[in-house]
Amino acid sequence: MRNKKDKDDGMLEVIRKYTAEIGDSDIGKTVKLYGWVHEIRDHGGIVFVILRDREGFIQVTVPRKKVDTDVFKTVKKVHRESVIEVIGTVKAEPKAPGGYEIVPQKFVILNEADAPLPLDVAEKVPAELDTRLDHRYLDLRKPKIQAIFRIRHCVLKSVREFLCEEGFIEVNTPKIVSTATEGGTELFPISYFEKEAFLNQSPQLYKQVLMAAGLERVFEIGPIFRAEEHNTVRHLNEAVSIDIEASFIDHEGVMNILERLIKRVYEDVSESCSRYLKWLGIELETPKIPFKRLSYDEALNIAERKGESIPWGEDISTPALKLISEDMPEFYFIVDWPTKSKPFYAMPYKDKPEICKSFDLMKGYIELASGAQRIHVYNLLVKRIEECGMSIDSFGFYIESFRYGMPPHAGWGLGADRLLMAMLNLKNIREGVLFPRDRNRLVP
Ligand code: ATP
Ligand code: MG
Repeated sequence: MRNKKDKDDGMLEVIRKYTAEIGDSDIGKTVKLYGWVHEIRDHGGIVFVILRDREGFIQVTVPRKKVDTDVFKTVKKVHRESVIEVIGTVKAEPKAPGGYEIVPQKFVILNEADAPLPLDVAEKVPAELDTRLDHRYLDLRKPKIQAIFRIRHCVLKSVREFLCEEGFIEVNTPKIVSTATEGGTELFPISYFEKEAFLNQSPQLYKQVLMAAGLERVFEIGPIFRAEEHNTVRHLNEAVSIDIEASFIDHEGVMNILERLIKRVYEDVSESCSRYLKWLGIELETPKIPFKRLSYDEALNIAERKGESIPWGEDISTPALKLISEDMPEFYFIVDWPTKSKPFYAMPYKDKPEICKSFDLMKGYIELASGAQRIHVYNLLVKRIEECGMSIDSFGFYIESFRYGMPPHAGWGLGADRLLMAMLNLKNIREGVLFPRDRNRLVP
């Protein structure tokens, strides 16, 4: 449709343009625009309508004396946020936003919006996040909000491109599963015909089985479901995870892939989303690699020094992470976690089995990714499952795949929503998710 010549009523042959495409070369020409009525300023004999489309704004100037009577009548009665089609002549107008105005020959209301609006798209009246999410289709009409999702699109595109270049194959694993990935809690049960099933909390087990299948390098971008009850600014009950698994590589190898991926995503977003970053007032700085590696023990020492002590072996609490992050302004890894603090499939160090070859990627106090070299040796895996108080019977197809030629492998899971949150300094993860799911939010 874009830039194609449309015959209009057999009368006008005009080019459809986006607002952002209007330039000096269009002055004096007739163009067609589709969009929404962002603002109306009615001065009696002249009405200014700001048309908003996906790419920006333009002023439609409607002087009674210079336009068709029907056009003027239509403009007089249009409501904000109605969908319109405008065909008109482009003029330079330094006082108009963007520097151009359109004087319409045709002004059609394609669909009239009711008044008043449940949410002010022009943002003259600020709204709480909850109200905004309740009327997300209106909230998303705001250019700043659309900018977030234009950038999200670019992030995911960049991730795909990078991983494909690195020899990864994109896969889709089931989201309806019969057992837990990492033990019984945090799962959403669903009824599955005569059986009970669950929504998958992670593609972990399937990714590993695909290593046994010889695919060597796989990635998946898909939903993960966590029945966590906590209500924080960084947790959702449905999130999108970017997962990789690779054979013949250790934890260091996949950390290297992860930091190069992050750098690449920042570069791609800086390059192709400069307009949207500007709408958001963000100057993106590409992070330098390699990222700092902080051992779990060092992290605990920093926290301890600042008055927050964590018993060795436990997960690092949010208050402790906040203290640690004061010393770590850039992306950083926390490595060499206690084996008992990580899932059963993380590979313990041979000479020091109480710690394992695992890592978390952090930005500030927020965890963006977790990964590890995995156990590929059947007997060791069985031992670890049992030590974690689980039964190998519930790991049927998974455990079997380790008996018949499982290569050494490693991988990670990176939260896409968390990555966007970190990149755009979003105060709440929900800002970067179209229709977030949390304990209180199931609609829309
Ligand atoms: P956290 O400790 O922050 O709750 P986790 O260690 O439970 O996270 P993992 O199981 O390691 O999470 O999942 C890998 C990644 O997936 C996390 O680093 C995070 O980026 C993302 N992720 C996990 N759970 C959630 C969630 N509830 N909401 C949003 N993102 C999540
Ligand atoms: Mg984790």
